[in-house]
Order: sequence, then C-alpha cells, then structure tokens
Amino acid sequence: MSNLYHVFSEHLQPKRPLLINSNQECEATYGDLETRSAQYASALLSLGLNPGDRVAVQIAKSIENIYLYCGCLRAGLIYLPLNAAYQASELSHFITDAKPKLFVIDPAASIGHLDQLDHRPQTRTLDQDGRGSLRDLADSSPTHPEIHPSQDQDIAVIVYTSGTTGLPKGAMISHGNLISNARALRTAWGWTDHDVMLHALPIFHVHGLFVGLHLPLLSNSPIILMPNFNADAVIATLPLATVFMGVPTYYTRLLSSGIKAQDCANMRLFTSGSAPLLSQTFTDWEQATGTTILERYGMTETGMNTSNPLSGERKKGTVGPALPGVKCRVVDSSGIDVAVGDTGDLWVKGENVFSGYWQNPEKTAESFTSEGPGDGFFKTGDLASIDPEGYITIVGRNKDLIITGGLNVYPKEIELLIDRMDGVLESAVIGLPHPDFGEAVCAVIVPLDGADCSQEAIIATLKADIANFKIPKHVFFIPELPRNTMGKVQKNELRTRFSPPSSS
Ligand code: AMP
Repeated sequence: MSNLYHVFSEHLQPKRPLLINSNQECEATYGDLETRSAQYASALLSLGLNPGDRVAVQIAKSIENIYLYCGCLRAGLIYLPLNAAYQASELSHFITDAKPKLFVIDPAASIGHLDQLDHRPQTRTLDQDGRGSLRDLADSSPTHPEIHPSQDQDIAVIVYTSGTTGLPKGAMISHGNLISNARALRTAWGWTDHDVMLHALPIFHVHGLFVGLHLPLLSNSPIILMPNFNADAVIATLPLATVFMGVPTYYTRLLSSGIKAQDCANMRLFTSGSAPLLSQTFTDWEQATGTTILERYGMTETGMNTSNPLSGERKKGTVGPALPGVKCRVVDSSGIDVAVGDTGDLWVKGENVFSGYWQNPEKTAESFTSEGPGDGFFKTGDLASIDPEGYITIVGRNKDLIITGGLNVYPKEIELLIDRMDGVLESAVIGLPHPDFGEAVCAVIVPLDGADCSQEAIIATLKADIANFKIPKHVFFIPELPRNTMGKVQKNELRTRFSPPSSS
C-alpha cells in the first residue's frame, strides 16, 4: 500500500505532541491526528464520496484543515486546496474543470454565483476556528475507517497552477510523488523527531502543505501553527522551534523587524524557496543572525528538485544540487545539454515529478519530453545554469526571457547588476513591446528609502558592464514590487502597468 497517510501512520506515536502553542502547551497529539483524520474520512464517505472523487477546499489555515487533509488522503479522495484570495470567476473555472463532489468553504464565503454552474458540488463549512457543518459531521463520525489501499500512481492532490497564458491547470500529484519527496527531504535536511516546525506558510500551496507539513508528520515532530506570517510573532516564537521555512519576503521582513542572533539560538535550519532569495538578503541574514539560509528550488508539478546542503557549502544565489533521486538537465532549444555555466532550459525527472495536468492531455504532452510522464523529463519552464560542482542557479522563467532585436536577454543578469548599485533595494527587468526591437528591455526599480536614483545614473553604470542591447531603454521607479502570497514578483502586472517606451 502506498497511501501517504499510511506512511505517516506507520510509526505514529499517539502521545507525541502534534500541535504546540506559544506557551509550549500541547494542543493536539499524534493520537488526535489519527482519530480526527479517521472521523473526517468517515464523514466524507458518509456524504457519498468515493475514492478518486475531488474535495475542493477553500478555508483558513487551522488544525481541523490538517485533519481534513489527512482524512481525504486516508479515504483515497483527491484533495484540492484553493487560495482564499481566488475570486468568483477563478472559482467557477476550478469547479467546472475539477468537478469536485464536495466544496468545503468558510461559512462567511459568498459562493452564490456557483449556483449558475452546470456542476454544483455539495458544500460544507469549516471556519478559521475549525467550526462548521463539516466539523459537526466529523465529530459524530466513527473513528476507525480503514486506510484506502492507494497505489503509488494514484492521485492524492490536485493543485491548480496559473500560467501567464490560458486558464490555470490542475497538476495531478500522486501518493508516490509525495512520499518520495518527503523522504528525500527528510534525509537531505536531517529531520528527526526532535525538530519543532514553526509553520507560518499558507497551506493551500505546495510549500506550506507538502514541505511544511509532510516533514513533521513523517517524523512525529511538533508543529507551531501560525494562522499567517507575522514577523514579530515569528521572532517571539523562534526560541521554541528548530526549523523555519519561508519565502524570501519573510526573511526581508524578519530583518526589517530587527531579528538577532539570540532569537535564533535554538534554530537548526532556516529554508527559503518559492521565489529567488536576493544575495543581499542571504548576506544580511548571515550578519544579523549568524545562521545561513538554506535555499531550495521546487514547483507545484515536481515538489522539491534541488537543495543546498545541510552540511557543506550553501552557495549564495544558487538553489543547490539536485536532490537524490532527481535528475536535472539544462538544455538548449534543440534539447542538447549546454556547457557547464551556460544558461538553458531546466528539465527534471524523478519519482517526485507529477503525472500530468488534469484532463489536459495536450498540455501534459507539451510539458514532457517525448517519452511522456513517467519516462520523460518535465520541462520546468525555468532557465538555469549548472556550475562545475552541480549547483544550480535559477535565471528566471523562460517566458520572462526578453528577445530584443532577435537577441536573448536574461532579466536576472541585469537585475543582479542593478541590485548591487548604491541606492537600490531591488529591481525587476521586463520586456515591453517595441516597434523596432520587438521587445525593449526595461527596468523597474525600488530605490532604498530616501535614495536619489536616476535613470541616467543607472544606465551609465550598466553601460560599463554589459553589451548595449541589454541596457534598459527605460527605467521606472516604484515604491514596492508587486508580489503574490508566495513572494513571487508579478512580472505580468508590471508588463501591464508600464507603457512601452517610444521607439528610440
Ligand atoms: P509554484 O509552482 O507556485 O511553486 O512556483 C514554482 C516556480 O517558483 C518555479 O518554477 C520557479 O520559477 C520559482 N521558484 C521556486 N523556488 C525558487 C527559488 N529558490 N529560486 C528561484 N525561483 C524559484
């Protein structure tokens, strides 16, 4: 049997704390996880759901949410987490596409528009305090349903990922994908039952749901569950924890809130991912805390692919070598491996790689090399280079590549140069339509507070370092880069916000 919950429960120690609060009191044990997930599984089956049915979930982060997730796994149902920020039109797409039998919502949510859809799932509620009609049903449901005998390839979770074009696609992630990735990370990061996870990430995304929860659940280690990220609360709670996982924005906010070495005295590991960690943040963090952030790289479709080492050099600006069991290739447009240090498309293969997009065979076929899912390499859509020691640097998304006058410009190369300049906090380089060049390189810059940056000075400094075709045609200044909840810079939004420069 390859049910992910079965793997969690194999060595489950019922008396171990699962959830501890900031006063170090145990609020739930692993025994509670066993009982409550069984009750949720029974409740879901009593609603007429069968293994393979989808359960869409758009609720606040809570321990009941985790019990529900585990209940879905053990019943063989497909868990479908949705970002609470999704609007009506996006929700309509997910419901029409995935056809969930059940939609678990916050009682305050207004989903009246779903009445118009052809597919209308049953709804049950769970609020941020873990109360609601689904909780009531679970409370009165039996505690001992069997764990469904799922196989490696059976789908455990569907997570919708949004591309820049077309509608979001549902990535089908199997029990086997999740088990292999959780085990690989447990070994790579030396996770033990002595670890205490400070969990501040959302759990509708792979980072907080898979990486943030599976590692503690696999090892019976306690979790301090924060409803969301708050820098002051994290700093106050770090002395109780050993591991913290964040997106880069969390680290810059912790630094702005004055984090110090003594706050981190008990900490064994800080990891960063979901978006690139600025070299400046990496260095500032080392100086402020005396600890080194471990950067890793993954995506919805693949889970984690690479990680800087636990012991060994963590190289700034890189995401580390491929994890054991994961193969990474960097190739040119003909699919030939590029030379060490050169930039190309990153392809990955391994048990961690998903089995395709839900009911979208064309997109699935396009995304894998010709052998297809299972045997082929998945084309990540990221541009990368590999150094002689196998450390990978992510250069950006290939859709963000700028082609100006027929020449390729990698935004990251220019962003790194701009970020190093005096008076600059950070930057994003984008391509905007241009009548002569097709696309014009443009830089969007966030100056440091009170700094005096000018387009002329930025361009003059760049001219000393890079070829003319890479020099921005225009520089825009803004107070903050638009980012999503996972800390990713929304380049699409920048491309629509700023007008193309006139031809010059
Ligand atoms: P998602 O599917 O939302 O997890 O987004 C995955 C994408 O986030 C990847 O394809 C990368 O473009 C980006 N990403 C994740 N981790 C990193 C990282 N450490 N450095 C740079 N980009 C990253």
